[in-house]
Amino acid sequence: MPKFAPPPQRLSHIAPAVVQSEIRAMSVECDRVGGVNLAQGICDTELPAVVEQGAIEAIRSGRNIYTRLDGVAPLREAIAAKLARHNGIKADPETEILVTNGATGALYTALLALLNPGDEVVVFEPFYGYHVSTILSLRMVPVVVPLHAPDWSLDADALRAAVTDRTRAILINTPSNPTGKVFTRKELESVAQLAQDRDLFVLTDEIYEYFLYDGAEHVSMATLPGMRERTITISGLSKTFSVTGWRVGYLTAPADIVPAIGYFHDLVYICTPSPAQYGALAGMTQLADTAFYTDLAADHQRKRDELCDALADAGFHAPRPAGAYYVFADASHVPGDTAAQRARILLRETGVAAVAGSAFVREGRGETMLRFCFGKRNADLKRACDALRSM
Ligand code: PLP
Repeated sequence: MPKFAPPPQRLSHIAPAVVQSEIRAMSVECDRVGGVNLAQGICDTELPAVVEQGAIEAIRSGRNIYTRLDGVAPLREAIAAKLARHNGIKADPETEILVTNGATGALYTALLALLNPGDEVVVFEPFYGYHVSTILSLRMVPVVVPLHAPDWSLDADALRAAVTDRTRAILINTPSNPTGKVFTRKELESVAQLAQDRDLFVLTDEIYEYFLYDGAEHVSMATLPGMRERTITISGLSKTFSVTGWRVGYLTAPADIVPAIGYFHDLVYICTPSPAQYGALAGMTQLADTAFYTDLAADHQRKRDELCDALADAGFHAPRPAGAYYVFADASHVPGDTAAQRARILLRETGVAAVAGSAFVREGRGETMLRFCFGKRNADLKRACDALRSM
């Protein structure tokens, strides 16, 4: 976890805390040596043809100007339909949905609109580094509650003990990066109870909601009794449609807070790129009643098994995740004093890039862990698996 340090001249107080992500650093190093990048969650699989076509047609038909700050109406309607059908969330497309610059822009602007500097936000560890860095960059305070291996279960008592008078929100990522943990309904209910007892917001990052394996169930916090009015549900198309560079995400929240989030989103991004909104719209409407989503999960489950088998053959302890597309593996047998060293040695020996586990936990932890991404093209994954086996 990034730490506050004395500000060097010319930089803000928090700039030293928000360093280049280890994930990006490994990608740069991987490119340099021509390796297979299982580090960044960029999911370079093919995007669906209808999504591509939707964006191309939008550009050609002149949809290249700013859109309404909360996104184009048909996309908000498609998102409302998806939320009702898939998540069980009823959302008014006119007042309760904001199309955002990815899930990243959704979280950033929601925090800007809802919380103040110094406010505490509970996050679960292992965490997605951007979550903690975003909280820090807004001068808020991440309060880390560890989940417990091997299944990364939640200790409801530890969570309750972490909440103070300054806590304003709990951030949940399910299915989670980096562990693939899928929060159970019971765990979410305990978070919901606490949020209601202590009058907290819950922000949920559900970007991997379609990446579920072995029958795991995705439960959206906003569907639990009493939670709709205090939950900001965040998701996006980056992962589902393999368009991480397009920057299309969305959030749904109560109508009385969406305008404030929309205002900050306008200020930072003006709008989500217009052609990308139309590409997302084409995908969301035309793929809704097809096998696309079940195929996506089945395909990634196969990739998960392929990678976990190769990692096990190469001596890693690599439990199979229930969701998302990462394996958080124990790499104690790879030489190195730190996870960053192990990642670099692995890259040098095998040409496979992974991310140091220390990027997802507080300082001093995770030094034996590496995160591998299996959201990759078949040929790249096979190359990586062959290389790992040859270790
Ligand atoms: N949330 C999580 C948990 C992620 O792992 C990622 C990407 O790796 C993102 C959000 C980024 O989403 P987006 O591209 O929609 O900003």
